[in-house]
Amino acid sequence: MMSLAVLRKVPKMNKPIYDIVIAGAGPAGLTAALYAGRSRLKTRILEKFNPGGQILLTETIENFPGIFQMKSVEWVGVMRKQLADLKEVEISEEASVKKIEAKDGLFKTIVVSQGGRHEEVVESKAVIIATGAQPKKMGIPGEDALTGRGVSYCATCDGPLYRDKEVVVVGGGDTAIEEALYLRKFAKKITVVHRREALRATAVLRERVLGDEKIVFQWDSVPLEVVGKMRVEGLRVRNVKNNQENTLSCDGVFVFIGFTPDTAFLRSTLDLSDAGYILTDENMMSSATGIFACGDCRLRPFSQVVTACGEGAIAAFAAAKFLENKI
Ligand code: NAP
Repeated sequence: MMSLAVLRKVPKMNKPIYDIVIAGAGPAGLTAALYAGRSRLKTRILEKFNPGGQILLTETIENFPGIFQMKSVEWVGVMRKQLADLKEVEISEEASVKKIEAKDGLFKTIVVSQGGRHEEVVESKAVIIATGAQPKKMGIPGEDALTGRGVSYCATCDGPLYRDKEVVVVGGGDTAIEEALYLRKFAKKITVVHRREALRATAVLRERVLGDEKIVFQWDSVPLEVVGKMRVEGLRVRNVKNNQENTLSCDGVFVFIGFTPDTAFLRSTLDLSDAGYILTDENMMSSATGIFACGDCRLRPFSQVVTACGEGAIAAFAAAKFLENKI
């Protein structure tokens, strides 16, 4: 009997080598893919969840030049359509980048999918990191235990659950104030807890929120504990000026105190700031030649959809120049 080995010769599948791998499909990554695809570069986007990123945590975009008001989901839908038109661009969803290695003039991006059951090595000639950032936690008792039971980091996702209820918003930046304004559609009362007496948020948002009949402020206060057994019942806070504590009775606590960049997997690969942001030059090139970064994972002075998109375009342009040995 003939051995199985000589019966049929199975051709070895050659895995494609991409020009560019993009980690992350938020506004920065999607824009980088748009520019890479239009430059006819074979591009693969690896996205941990679904395309959109943090922009999907907000309901409406109203400060993108040329767009008066547009639902964030609609904006992401248009971006996806633009990319679907480019045969050079592939998107892999629920594909989480674990590591990037440089070997023999190529980058090997290790990506896991199917809840960690499947691992793949994706090879490319350049990499663009656009992994964004995750909402920061307060780090106080009760927060983890009651996450999903009244503690939330996304008003767009959970706001409708608080119709005619009382909620607390923690934070004083653009996100906190935008989300407080969004929550007023549902909740009957919103208390914004801020650790000082002046909001960090942009003037236009401050003007909208101050004086709103549904939104009240607990100034100079820091959260101490999320109170509740099965669900959130309140938030215990301390006034930093007089040290007095009180518990704000509420059904939900929405936390918007900033973001932490999603770059832990790059700690041994790239130069990062103390807070973990990727350091780049004006071409968006990181400390590793051929690896670029854009969007909220990168150290920059101003985080907006428009800046993320601008950086995505520059990163793709620079990556294309890098592939031509021009930078
Ligand atoms: P942020 O600007 O860093 O503001 C975080 C807020 O939380 C600040 O008010 C800060 O207080 C407070 N905070 C920080 N740590 C805290 C803690 N441990 N306990 C209590 N309070 C704490 O974050 P963000 O509002 O998420 O905005 C992030 C970036 O995205 C910004 O550049 C922002 O402009 C941008 N963004 C833009 C838009 C828009 O253009 N429509 C929307 C959302 C976000 P202090 O003020 O005292 O530091």
